[in-house]
Amino acid sequence: MAERRITIVGAGLAGALLATLLAQRGWKVDVYEKRGDPRVQGYGGGRSINLALAERGRHALRMAGGDDEVMAQAVMMRGRMVHFLDGRTDLQRYGKDDSEVIWSVHRGELNLILLDLAESAGATLHFQRGLADVDFDSRTARFRDDRDGGLHETAFDSLVGADGAGSALRAAMMNVADLGERTEFLGHSYKELEIPPSPEGGFSIEPNALHIWPRGRYMCIALPNDEQTFTVTLFLPNEGDPSFATVRNGTDAQALFERDFADAVPLIPNLQRDFEQNPTGLLATLYLDNWRIDDRAVLLGDAAHAMVPFHGQGMNCAFEDCVALANHLERNADRAAAFAAFQEERLPNARAIQQMALENYLEMRDRVDDEDYLLQRALERTLAERHPDRFVPRYAMVTFRRLPYAVAFERGQLQRELLVELTRGHASLDTLDWDAVDAVVRERLKPLPVEA
Ligand SMILES: Cc1cc2nc3c(=O)[nH]c(=O)nc-3n(C[C@H](O)[C@H](O)[C@H](O)COP(=O)(O)OP(=O)(O)OC[C@H]3O[C@@H](n4cnc5c(N)ncnc54)[C@H](O)[C@@H]3O)c2cc1C
Repeated sequence: MAERRITIVGAGLAGALLATLLAQRGWKVDVYEKRGDPRVQGYGGGRSINLALAERGRHALRMAGGDDEVMAQAVMMRGRMVHFLDGRTDLQRYGKDDSEVIWSVHRGELNLILLDLAESAGATLHFQRGLADVDFDSRTARFRDDRDGGLHETAFDSLVGADGAGSALRAAMMNVADLGERTEFLGHSYKELEIPPSPEGGFSIEPNALHIWPRGRYMCIALPNDEQTFTVTLFLPNEGDPSFATVRNGTDAQALFERDFADAVPLIPNLQRDFEQNPTGLLATLYLDNWRIDDRAVLLGDAAHAMVPFHGQGMNCAFEDCVALANHLERNADRAAAFAAFQEERLPNARAIQQMALENYLEMRDRVDDEDYLLQRALERTLAERHPDRFVPRYAMVTFRRLPYAVAFERGQLQRELLVELTRGHASLDTLDWDAVDAVVRERLKPLPVEA
């Protein structure tokens, strides 16, 4: 068989994983990364410090043989620890037990593990090579070394864009093809702060939870790190009060926290410094109608479908993309057909998780402490126990299962309608007629397929 070659742009989370999956299957893989090798010069960061890893991402890591190493540094998060304004807290479990949890992983450590995996699988990594421009006719790409501005030209068979939300490959493709690009800004941004270890050296708050301080139009969250710190993310609108327009410096941030997140204030000793030194991150959803140019280029991960982070699925979805693309390339020798089949499978699913991520923002910041919502959630848990093959909460379908996102979305809508209908006029589950409830569930929800 002729040598199968592929050139990946970006050695972030998706690029490094895809390189591993393809190199393990005998492909000659070259990966070009704009930044320096983080294993030599330390991880440069840029985006969130830690991430929630769920079943879709873990499945992809298992495929690449990297799950054990990643899990060795992951911290379990059993549920949301809600911090109310009056200081009370409440742990809302994500799943039925500890088999249904999510994991906090450090982005930098994860990237290092994936780069090592890619290299040991045989992929060649080229650092300090940022994609500058592409000539799709002659199949040549030029990469810039930011240290001296030097340009390095290379020939390619096909390019894969794993270069993130600001993808340079996407920009180059748009010079020659209509990708139907549309970016919707959320109108809210984020800032990261840190909770250091306690004076005794342990975690200062419950480690096995994702902490949330929901406050209506805005919120804070905190995810644990294995070095016993937490990364706190403050999400605020860009306009209005409070917003990043009114909370402009460390003093303003301190005042906001003292008023709205009082129990977090003693935990974040460098609140003012963190607020002033750390960048404010923008949040947006990127929609494309087309992710590819015949057999010459295809996009995946954030380059194809960046989303807001409120379902903790951007990386999980990007990892699922990698497995799907590797499978299509393996099954189909016609590369253009493989790229087309990949897009056909993944685009509707990307759209579905983008929508669910947007909806989850409202749920996290505004609903987790609301009475109707809590009753619907209680019913959801009961129905999941009574009808485990038919009623799987949407969060669980997205997070603990690998059903296509589009199925989870559609099914989730149907289930939500049922929950609203069945709890209407009830203040507790005790007054429900369970025979009637079971009959409605059986009538409206077909058993869900079990994924392989
Ligand atoms: C605040 C926040 C919290 C998040 N939390 C979660 C979470 O809990 N769970 C989750 O699953 N997802 C989360 N995400 C989403 C997740 O970060 C992304 O979906 C994921 O990083 C996408 O991976 P990627 O490889 O496509 O892109 P990236 O991780 O952005 O990697 C792109 C790579 O390409 C390189 N690059 C860029 N330009 C060029 C160029 N011109 N040439 C060569 N290389 C280039 C970059 O240096 C980088 O290494 C979060 C995102 C944010 C912003």
